[in-house]
Amino acid sequence: MSTSIARRIALAARPKGKPQSSDFRLEEMPIPAPGPGQVLLGVQYLSLDPYMRGRMDDRKSYVKPVQVGDAMPGENIARVLASNNPKYALGDVVTSQTGWVTHALSDGTGLRKLDPQQKPITTALGVLGMPGFTAYSGLLTIGKPKAGETVVVAAASGPVGSLVGQLAKIVGARAVGIAGGPEKCAYVKNELGFDAAIDHRAADMPAQLAAACPKGIDVYFENVGGAIWQGVLPLLNKFARVPVCGIIAHYNDEKASADEDRLPATMREILTRSLTLRGFINFEFADQIPQFYREVSAWIAEGRVKYREDIVDGLENAPTAFMGLLEGRNFGKLIVRVDSSAP
Ligand code: NDP
Repeated sequence: MSTSIARRIALAARPKGKPQSSDFRLEEMPIPAPGPGQVLLGVQYLSLDPYMRGRMDDRKSYVKPVQVGDAMPGENIARVLASNNPKYALGDVVTSQTGWVTHALSDGTGLRKLDPQQKPITTALGVLGMPGFTAYSGLLTIGKPKAGETVVVAAASGPVGSLVGQLAKIVGARAVGIAGGPEKCAYVKNELGFDAAIDHRAADMPAQLAAACPKGIDVYFENVGGAIWQGVLPLLNKFARVPVCGIIAHYNDEKASADEDRLPATMREILTRSLTLRGFINFEFADQIPQFYREVSAWIAEGRVKYREDIVDGLENAPTAFMGLLEGRNFGKLIVRVDSSAP
């Protein structure tokens, strides 16, 4: 990063429904100098994740919303460019929560040193990072799949869904993925080794799902909500477990859908089939991170876990890439290469 100008993407306006380009603003400023105890970070890669849509709304949630005018939040991989902090040396590579920026100052809070030998380093944002850990902790702790059971997951080509299905296979379960379009479905079945892949855009998706799950569904890892949840609900077996991880189909909803109220029917199914639904946020299981890292790293090395990254160049392209993520235009873990010279 040879330029002396820092750049960031700020929230310009709160979106109404789907985010628009005008909701984001690219800003330039001089690169700041680190004060006592601080490090200057040069961001190499930025992770784009569905939860960022929630942060753009002024709504109570498990973390505070981003304020209009502030940098968009998020995790990135950065190199230490200057250090007044004895814990960090020039050239250290870390993950930081400093958001959609090219440069940031940090007092070290929330930084995690990465092993530069970890290749590719971007896995720290995907299969070996927060999304991978979400799949691992949510599936194994809440879903508890057993050999011979059927596990269904949507957004199955993405970083969370792809690992959910592969972990299901590792424990000996049947894995059924739901994804958008033939190319993603082919990848899920042929490359990731799921037993079946269903295109959620097909008009007869519920019938195809039923055919792919002849013994019903024992674990549904909920990433999407909407029409997919409605297709899954009648197929859930008695004592099925539903880790509720995300409902991306609803992130752009402005208000409750005007559709008929499906809650009473849903509650009836939960009661009569003794279903367990449990929401979770990955950091609730933070004590499992060392085990996650050890196990998933080994499975990658053995070729039992595969992953795919979708890398977009240039911080200025982050808003368009992020808007695409909410519509399924990404194919794999979406990452922005902020520094064109990053390895
Ligand atoms: P992905 O990279 O898989 O991207 C999101 C995908 O969702 C899109 O590519 C698209 O895939 C699918 N999608 C978007 N809109 C719809 C829709 N209306 N109907 C059906 N599918 C849709 O994302 P992640 O793997 O990072 O995240 C998956 C889910 O996990 C999200 O809901 C996210 O919020 C949640 N999450 C929750 C965490 C937690 O701690 N609880 C932590 C991390 C993620 P396709 O083209 O296949 O439809």
